Amino acid sequence: MSNSSLDIQIQKTTNSRLKDFDQNNLKFGHTFSDHMFIADFSEGKWHSPRIVPFGDMLMSPANSMIHYGQSIFEGLKAFKAQNGDTLVFRPDMNAKRMQLSARRMCMAEVPTEYFIEGIRELLRIDEQWIPDTPSSSMYIRPFEFASDNFLGVHPSDSYRFMIILSPSGTYYRKDVKVKVEREFTRATKGGVGEAKTAANYAASLYPTKLAHEQGFDQLIWTDGKEHKFIEESGTMNFMAIMDGKLVTSPLTSTILAGVTRDSILNIARDWGMQVDERPVAVSELKAAMQENRIQEAFGVGTAATVAHISDISIDGENFTLPGAENREFSVKVKKYMDDLKRGRIEDERNWIFKV
Ligand SMILES: *Cc1c(COP(=O)(O)O)cnc(C)c1O
Repeated sequence: MSNSSLDIQIQKTTNSRLKDFDQNNLKFGHTFSDHMFIADFSEGKWHSPRIVPFGDMLMSPANSMIHYGQSIFEGLKAFKAQNGDTLVFRPDMNAKRMQLSARRMCMAEVPTEYFIEGIRELLRIDEQWIPDTPSSSMYIRPFEFASDNFLGVHPSDSYRFMIILSPSGTYYRKDVKVKVEREFTRATKGGVGEAKTAANYAASLYPTKLAHEQGFDQLIWTDGKEHKFIEESGTMNFMAIMDGKLVTSPLTSTILAGVTRDSILNIARDWGMQVDERPVAVSELKAAMQENRIQEAFGVGTAATVAHISDISIDGENFTLPGAENREFSVKVKKYMDDLKRGRIEDERNWIFKV
């Protein structure tokens, strides 16, 4: 992309932690690079883009994000290609989605230039933190929160946008067992389910904890009104291969529009696969599993790309799906996406952003 007009002030650390960085022992989201990007919004405009050493922040106890929850985030990844290039997968999609989340949460929209140039400059400065083992990547976490310091309930007039980098290993190490959630709700029509906002995650923690206690790794959310239709799988979009067709819920106000979802649907169509974006009833899924018409089920999202679902439990009844070794599409598309993101195959769709 073009040269930036954004004037980012840079203050480098004098105490790099790089010497203690062990890229062979990475969990997800535990390690952070030396620097972070910050920009502020006040008096109607974004200003002061800067990169400073990663560290704690001071905050007023009256900060309105703490009290009323105006907080949104994004998640994407950078990879080190064989030739040394740093590659980021479709960051323009994340920039746009963050703007959509901001509108829904009544927050100032971060300009695409701040988003993209912030990521680019930060990755350049912390390039040595990008892991290059086969299963690891640099997880990029852009986020924005309200920064007014008053207690009245109203949209904040000031905001902060930040980006932090977390060199990370794999998200799920094994196939996942999921439970179809029929009691609790992640999102309802007209709510904030389509925004990547902290509130959605807060609402999901308790039901997810109960599912863990019952021996499941994740939930499959159903619609908030009747709990009859499949929505998402935890923090990933849900997909299944049913009768040879790729089925997934359509994008509505209760579904987070995943970049991985969009990418996989595009690739599937290019590969000549029939793609059905339509509501899938729990009863339909159950009948299809009873009749062995589900060949594959999986969650899709940036963290894991594809997480194979081994078991689906519906109202206490467990269904075991064909093993991942017998899955054609999800195994192939996972490898394809991985190769694409790491620059091992040609980027025919212009999805790869070179830092
Ligand atoms: C982030 C997220 C996804 C996946 O989106 P990607 O852009 O593919 O990472 C799916 N569902 C929810 C609820 C999410 O928050």
